[in-house]
Amino acid sequence: MAAAWQDVVRDAAAVREAAAVAVDAALLAGVLMRTGEQPNASDVVNYAPFTLLPSAVPRALFEQAYAVQQDFNLLVDAVSQNREFLEQTLASTIKVDDFTARLFRIYKQVLEEGLAQTVFLGINRSDYMFDCGLEGTAALRQIEINTIAASFGGLTSRTADVHRLVLNVLGKSEEASQLLPNNPAKGLALGIAKAWELYGSQRAVVMFLVEDVQRNIFDQRCIENELWNRRIRVVRKRFRDVFEQGSLDASRRLYMDGQEVAVVYYREGYVPQVYDEQNWEARLLLERSRAVKCPDIATQLAGTKKVQQELSRQGTLEKLLPGHPEAIARIRATFAGLYSLDEGEEGDRMAATAIADPDRFVLKPQREGGGNNLYGEELREVLEKIKDSPERTSYILMDKIRPQPALNYLLRAHSPLQVSECISELGIFGVYVRQGRELVLNRAAGHLLRTKAIEHADGGVAAGVAVLDTPFLV
Ligand code: ADP
Ligand code: MG
Repeated sequence: MAAAWQDVVRDAAAVREAAAVAVDAALLAGVLMRTGEQPNASDVVNYAPFTLLPSAVPRALFEQAYAVQQDFNLLVDAVSQNREFLEQTLASTIKVDDFTARLFRIYKQVLEEGLAQTVFLGINRSDYMFDCGLEGTAALRQIEINTIAASFGGLTSRTADVHRLVLNVLGKSEEASQLLPNNPAKGLALGIAKAWELYGSQRAVVMFLVEDVQRNIFDQRCIENELWNRRIRVVRKRFRDVFEQGSLDASRRLYMDGQEVAVVYYREGYVPQVYDEQNWEARLLLERSRAVKCPDIATQLAGTKKVQQELSRQGTLEKLLPGHPEAIARIRATFAGLYSLDEGEEGDRMAATAIADPDRFVLKPQREGGGNNLYGEELREVLEKIKDSPERTSYILMDKIRPQPALNYLLRAHSPLQVSECISELGIFGVYVRQGRELVLNRAAGHLLRTKAIEHADGGVAAGVAVLDTPFLV
């Protein structure tokens, strides 16, 4: 990929000046995070980490990622409604992975009772890296699709303005004018508002289900404030609050201390650590309710890494999306090599291949949130240990994507200004609303570019590894 800012990236004086302007611009624009010391107070806040310079992204791949997003929305929605597929695909995983098993139990329980929910809202983010082929042409490769709590759509709605200013300061006004507008906050709020409207009760609120530790609150506020401006009331509650205040009426409408809830937007609930028995009970209450869950538990399961791996198997997409050959072709063109480690010949062969050549692969457990994958020597050691045990099936194996690094500066509060070799990950937000069987909204809602230094194999912005960025199309 073109090194876009070759002339300025080594100019120490220009970089120092631009960085000072950039940090203040981020604060002014609201690219903010609470501090680790005071994660639940807004008295003193920091800028969220971001790159000094926008990163070059090949225009064709950027457009490809946008063009396939509605297809991915359709696919996730189809998987979430296909009980047979989810049961078969996750059968081996739930034998060994307690967290997925527990989610699955709730899924089955609500199906057996009969769904009260009739309106469905999906907000997802499909993440990609640009794989550098031998001939030097980059290809779009999906890393994963996040179907629950996909974050940074709010803050990233404000980063393009910051980078535009930085480029102006660096004497690159022509390039500054080419940065694309981007407003996922608005697009996601539109989906939530549509779901709220179809739920059909003016009095009912949208409930953001939030973490105990709320460092990333400003990202969520961007979406909340869009809803308030549409005169939709928003409340922020934790699982614990649901356990204490939540109830269902005879038609399974959800109430929080007497206040009806139309939409539950989860920004929490995707890692096992948050669930004690009371929080599991709260989750079950929400899933049984008529409220629109974003996502419902079936859609959360549709986003598991095991499902991703099975989707790449020959013939699976054709079964899930009959009558959509073009969508299938667009989706498949983004897949990297994905391999099952289930018990049997195929799994044995892949385990042996990965042990022999660990640098070719990434080993992934059924977890979200960054920092869980295994690479290189560690991958080899773990696979050696579990290769003959059922535990192997709690992982999938994926080809490692190798993007072309570029120089940039990662601006973080209290960190020295230094140049790093960086790679980027592009996310496209998707939003859809379904009423009964009819899809009434299906769109791409904006993008997120995250960039990290190459020494980190894993991890996102919240994990403290990647930072916010803006694509500069080349
Ligand atoms: P999580 O659910 O934890 O976000 P991901 O599948 O997104 O799991 O992996 C976390 C990070 O690991 C990604 O953001 C990316 O930086 C890196 N990663 C994941 N898969 C690959 C891959 N196949 N090749 C290279 N890097 C990868
Ligand atoms: Mg990820």
